[in-house]
Amino acid sequence: SQSYTSLVDFGRKHVTNGLGRQIEGVMTKGSGSYVTFGDGRTMLDFTTGIGVTGLGHCHPKVSAAAAKQCMELVHGQCSLAFTGPYLQLIERLLPIMPDPSLDSFFFWNSGSEAVEAAIKMARTITGKQNIIALQGGYHGRTFGAMAVTRSKTIYSEGFHPLMPGVFTMPYPYWHQLGVPASTDPSQISAMCLNQLNLLLSQQTTPKDTAAILIEPLLGEGGYVPTPVEFLKGVREICDKHNILLIIDEVQSGFGRTGKMFNIEYSRVRPDIMTIAKGLANGFPLSGVVSKKEFTDKLKPGSLGGTYAGNAVACAAAVAVADAFKEEKVLENVQARSQELFQALNTLRAKEHLKRTILDVRGQGLMVSVEFASPTGSGPYDAFVDKTVPEKLATRVAKRCHEKGLLILTTSVYEVVRFIPPLNIAKDDMQKGIRIFVEAVEEVVR
Ligand code: PMP
Repeated sequence: SQSYTSLVDFGRKHVTNGLGRQIEGVMTKGSGSYVTFGDGRTMLDFTTGIGVTGLGHCHPKVSAAAAKQCMELVHGQCSLAFTGPYLQLIERLLPIMPDPSLDSFFFWNSGSEAVEAAIKMARTITGKQNIIALQGGYHGRTFGAMAVTRSKTIYSEGFHPLMPGVFTMPYPYWHQLGVPASTDPSQISAMCLNQLNLLLSQQTTPKDTAAILIEPLLGEGGYVPTPVEFLKGVREICDKHNILLIIDEVQSGFGRTGKMFNIEYSRVRPDIMTIAKGLANGFPLSGVVSKKEFTDKLKPGSLGGTYAGNAVACAAAVAVADAFKEEKVLENVQARSQELFQALNTLRAKEHLKRTILDVRGQGLMVSVEFASPTGSGPYDAFVDKTVPEKLATRVAKRCHEKGLLILTTSVYEVVRFIPPLNIAKDDMQKGIRIFVEAVEEVVR
């Protein structure tokens, strides 16, 4: 309608150009696995707001818990006193932590802020400064988080200088090492551990190194599970040199990969863990979890934030934790994940697509398909070359959008990622798969 079109135009005119946009439109409603736009379009949502609404849009129990809290106490302020939901949330999280040593909590609003706090904490706890990040990693947009983000230059271009004291090593992902996609993950792990040892003897000595920061399943950098050998090797190096291991579970946590936290697959113990996104199913809430023996070293007042650990967001997160128990969410993730992998691997095996689909990977419902680049094997987002055709992954995603499936690309490579609701119904999963398969066939033809 005219008024809807003018609303979209209003947005184009007055919303900062600094934001990207996948769809020209106004979202008005979300329910379970679907979002509706102001023009009446309803789309199946395989983005979950970038891995946030894992229990679907407007989960009735989560929304009800938030609404109830809204009538009791909206803003308590974490530096004034505890609030009930803040403490109830800790009670719910303690038994599901990937290691029982993780018993000290601090809640904030966004994943970036949690990463910032983790860096500050690592510096204070160890009395050392430098942070080692991984090439391809994404940790957020605020200054500290941006400095450890190495997935795309768009996040820092024009915003330099960044926070100093950050060193970078390659992520155990074949692209980062320039080896074939078929290379054995244990070989890739060994190559990266060697790089880490070199870094610690050539660039930043363990005496100056506070922490190593890793996403256990690389997110924005391409949805790549981290080889277990690599995580174990890093843990050993950290133990040997008194370096803290910060595990960023902001995207991979809360059931996304089929376990409550992705790090459970390797049983590697984090010293500090960052959480957000699925934690509160859409309410702004993040957390930094560590050990009391570490956080006792922090001075009272050294952490805080006006809205940090908001009572409504905490009440929503309590309802999320309860829903995980009551609704067999992890079982659904595993069942739907198997169906998704089976369909994607069948697609990949088709004779005419064998050379086009390079990789199908991920864990649980954090899954990606990587296409071969039409321009060769390298990244090409990095170059602003207008003669290069639009990325294949982008064209596939756009075709999905036209067909009613909301889906995202990621990384500087040709990657489409699947982040559907964790409790998605079997029929909706099949519908999404069908649309994706059709889109690939139509675009690749
Ligand atoms: N860490 C990881 C692993 C993430 O995926 C993200 C967000 N995509 C962040 C940190 C930053 O979180 P936020 O956008 O909430 O600041």
